[in-house]
Amino acid sequence: MTAPLTILGTGMAGIQLARQVRARDAARPMTLITADSGDDYSKPLLSTGFAKGLPPARLASRDALSLAESLDAVVRTHTRVTGIDGAAKRLAIGAETLPYGELVLATGAAPVMPFDIPPALAPRVFTINDLDDYRAFYAALKRLARPARVAIIGSGLVGCEYANDLVAGGHGVTLIAPEPTPLARLLPETLGAALKDAFREAGIATAMGHTLAGLSEAGDRLALTLDDGRGLEADLVLVATGLAPRTALAEAAGLAVGPAGVLTDRYLATSSPGIHALGDVACVDGVNAMYVQPLQVGAKALAATLTGTPTPVAYGPWPVLVKTPLLPVVALAPRQAPARWRLEGEGRDWSALAEDENGRMIGFALTGTHVRRKVELARAAPALLI
Ligand SMILES: Cc1cc2nc3c(=O)[nH]c(=O)nc-3n(C[C@H](O)[C@H](O)[C@H](O)COP(=O)(O)OP(=O)(O)OC[C@H]3O[C@@H](n4cnc5c(N)ncnc54)[C@H](O)[C@@H]3O)c2cc1C
Repeated sequence: MTAPLTILGTGMAGIQLARQVRARDAARPMTLITADSGDDYSKPLLSTGFAKGLPPARLASRDALSLAESLDAVVRTHTRVTGIDGAAKRLAIGAETLPYGELVLATGAAPVMPFDIPPALAPRVFTINDLDDYRAFYAALKRLARPARVAIIGSGLVGCEYANDLVAGGHGVTLIAPEPTPLARLLPETLGAALKDAFREAGIATAMGHTLAGLSEAGDRLALTLDDGRGLEADLVLVATGLAPRTALAEAAGLAVGPAGVLTDRYLATSSPGIHALGDVACVDGVNAMYVQPLQVGAKALAATLTGTPTPVAYGPWPVLVKTPLLPVVALAPRQAPARWRLEGEGRDWSALAEDENGRMIGFALTGTHVRRKVELARAAPALLI
């Protein structure tokens, strides 16, 4: 019999892997362990639910019990693994120890909090990175029983998607970020300005080029002070300033870890025999993609490897669709700073091709009607991990 498999994490990576393994091996004992509720949900839907006021239960396709049944696996919920002993093949869960045969780390990434929150204000300051977070924010909106005024800190993919989603749900939004235009890591300034314009037209206030300098209580509201001294008020603050791979467990266990995650080879093997890593926590041959498509490719390859057919991962060029219906955006971010962006278009409809010094396309960004060029341009773009 093959060694029992333990998967740490029931995000999209952990669950997809478990499904793929079960499809290839009906008998292998499997245990999934998660610090959260273990509901099976699609994380990308978190930033599309507030427009329709979707209750959290509507975002989960099944709870942990039905997940366990469908996988014929043990699923331990609200269980935080506190240590890994790779030599003895044991996990620590507080005082409990749990043996494993093979281990997969699918512990994801955690929101980065760039400032300290005074404890009294913490109940009104949120990050939304899993279904439990969505539950908490949803409950805070419900408690207000009126449209909320939400200040969003950070204008990357997550901040922009929540801005669009919350304003579509009738809430007031102010987007605050140090960059001059939204989605600055994906879009050159002309395209970012088009998105900012579409946001402004929909009623989203922006404080671009600014950071938060102070946060305090102002009656039943929060008072925010920007770095130029300007003040604004909000009911709730949503922090969307990036995610960092959850590497602490792996690092403490002596696995090779870098700033972009737990280091693995193309077979998703970590530096410790019998331990693999997958999803947002894994830095695969120097690349941590942090998107769904690479995670799916990884889950399929790793399931094959774990069931006796060693299979390396290869990610093709995959463009990201940013869920901002106010102005559709598709981007394939270049891995190096482009020598130039070649722009075509007008108004809010743009194609921007990132080129290296030899004129080779190394990425692209599309807005408005130009998003239909996605497939054509993706075919011509370089793969991320060949
Ligand atoms: C709002 C939002 C929108 C997104 N939209 C898109 C999109 O449109 N397209 C796209 O491609 N990508 C999108 N992404 C990114 C994508 O969702 C992620 O790449 C993916 O969901 C990561 O899955 P994961 O399983 O690696 O990690 P996670 O979903 O973070 O799961 C981690 C799991 O590990 C568990 N865990 C962590 N530490 C421990 C511990 N010590 N003990 C036990 N369990 C532990 C957690 O409880 C959880 O179950 C979006 C992300 C966000 C936040």
